[in-house]
Amino acid sequence: MNRVVVIGAGPAGLIAAACAAQGGRQVTLVDDNPEPGGQLWRGGGGGVARQKLEGVNVALLNGARVVAAHGNTLTVETRDRAIALHWDQLIVAAGARERFLPFPGWTLPGAMGAGAMQAFIKSGLDVRGKRIVVAGTGPILLAVAALAKDKGAEIAAICEQAPAWRVRRFAFHLSMAKILEAIHLKRKLRGVPLYYGTWVREAEGGERVRRVILSDGRAIDCDYAACGYGLVPNTELLRLLEGRENVHAVGECTGIGGYLKSAVEGAAAGYRVAGDDSQANKLRPVIEQARKFAVRLERTFAPRAELRSLPRDETVVCRCEGVAFGALRDLPNWRYAKLHTRCGMGPCQGRVCGPAVEFLFGWKPDSTRPPVLPARVDTLMGGSDA
Ligand SMILES: Cc1cc2nc3c(=O)[nH]c(=O)nc-3n(C[C@H](O)[C@H](O)[C@H](O)COP(=O)(O)OP(=O)(O)OC[C@H]3O[C@@H](n4cnc5c(N)ncnc54)[C@H](O)[C@@H]3O)c2cc1C
Repeated sequence: MNRVVVIGAGPAGLIAAACAAQGGRQVTLVDDNPEPGGQLWRGGGGGVARQKLEGVNVALLNGARVVAAHGNTLTVETRDRAIALHWDQLIVAAGARERFLPFPGWTLPGAMGAGAMQAFIKSGLDVRGKRIVVAGTGPILLAVAALAKDKGAEIAAICEQAPAWRVRRFAFHLSMAKILEAIHLKRKLRGVPLYYGTWVREAEGGERVRRVILSDGRAIDCDYAACGYGLVPNTELLRLLEGRENVHAVGECTGIGGYLKSAVEGAAAGYRVAGDDSQANKLRPVIEQARKFAVRLERTFAPRAELRSLPRDETVVCRCEGVAFGALRDLPNWRYAKLHTRCGMGPCQGRVCGPAVEFLFGWKPDSTRPPVLPARVDTLMGGSDA
């Protein structure tokens, strides 16, 4: 029972791996990015991610995607080979992804998710002198706008779809640390227009985004429109593993709650697989607090109903297969839509359009089958043992 595999090297997975290894377990940590760190410490996060693994015996497998799970074996694809990775205890820390909601013009170059903008800037996108509208919902909007401003961009506006009163009520319950963080971000963003209860109705511009039209009719010129409607947990692997014993799910893939929730859930799972239940149990009150915060976060920033009426018949919903809203509008369910329009059947396998159609039409995924991520044929034919 000693082989521990952790999927995901974000904060939750890194901390889980470190705690399990400190307890004497043989740990393999698998992540699809070139560097550990997940979303928060992307690109290594200035060394924080590597520090978490200093002095502990964790085999780190970067650039490796878990594409399937059968019994107690994972199929892992790297750039040049496929690996069959066996586990006795599995910790899934697969994180979350951004929710995109379609609106006219959302596929124009220069329109992207708020989290995507953050990832591009962290990977070196030069935004100096560019005018950016940051829109959508959630605390990530302030973080992205502050980062872009720091890097020399002009933030034309921040548009938060949640009403101001609901955000104020949410802020009232924040911990002192989070209040200080919010004050710090607001200071950085002094002078930037921040509109509550407002969203991007349309992006215009021909070859690329030049302007956005807001829900109140205002038009704002910009070079980029960064619109993200919160995060959705990556649950595909967990659904494949449903019913299996010794599987622990931690971090954002269990619900969106930010760094603290990921960190403490990761630590508790790490202690538990190392057999240290007493350390794991000590974290219970903090985990409960963090989960309550996650519930408030979800309620405050739930996308409003008006966003369902943004797409026009010709607005693309599934970018991989080029399926427009009008082709989906009158269909009964996700399965029917897949079979008749190929919506969600392209390379991303519904990772982008899935959360959108769930919001627009209430369709939930009916089943999860491997591979959960696009994979090479030789990978699917079976990998060699790690
Ligand atoms: C786009 C985006 C931007 C964010 N920006 C901020 C921010 O600015 N500030 C903030 O406080 N929080 C931010 N968050 C929230 C942030 O994700 C959490 O606070 C924290 O990083 C969650 O940690 P985690 O370990 O649970 O998940 P993550 O950090 O998401 O880590 C999960 C890791 O698992 C990997 N993975 C998933 N599936 C597989 C697979 N099948 N095979 C191999 N590897 C896999 C992912 O690539 C990722 O590296 C952001 C989230 C997203 C999605």
